[in-house]
Amino acid sequence: MDEIRIAADAYYKARPEKKKKKVEKRFQNIDINRDGRVSKEEYASLYAMKKHKWPKSEHFTELDRDGDGYLDLEDATILHYLAISRRECDVCGLFIKGMFYSCEKCFDRSENGHSYNLCVPYFQSGEFKHKHDTFLDNYVLHENRYKRSKIKEIAETATLETLGTIATTCAIV
Ligand SMILES: [Zn+2]
Ligand SMILES: [Zn+2]
Repeated sequence: MDEIRIAADAYYKARPEKKKKKVEKRFQNIDINRDGRVSKEEYASLYAMKKHKWPKSEHFTELDRDGDGYLDLEDATILHYLAISRRECDVCGLFIKGMFYSCEKCFDRSENGHSYNLCVPYFQSGEFKHKHDTFLDNYVLHENRYKRSKIKEIAETATLETLGTIATTCAIV
């Protein structure tokens, strides 16, 4: 969890002031009795309201270091960071903190980049049933898609430039 803590911290520090305030405000809104901490129920109700499927009890428990059933602001922001940056394993249901495997076909067919995801132990065990066998680890998948979008971008710019040249040529003539 330490690596996640550092990543979440860096993520929030790099956010503009306005966004930081928003995070604090969200926390204050769910902290109904204003005691500087949120209970599992308070947090769950916020997510239920926004129709997110977070947080699961296990995620909450993992962040609740002293096990008193409450999260402080820092823990709550980490939970939010996990919700926006991490995937859940489609077999065991736990969220994946490190590398994972994604079905490339499902990823490409989905509009929001959602895919069928597997944690490493389940992928390696082969104990899952899925209609495709096109699995890539998240790093490779990300790198491939990044390159693909770059190529597309270059192709689009090239077309625009060509059109620009044609327009200029026509104007001169
Ligand atoms: Zn799993
Ligand atoms: Zn698939």
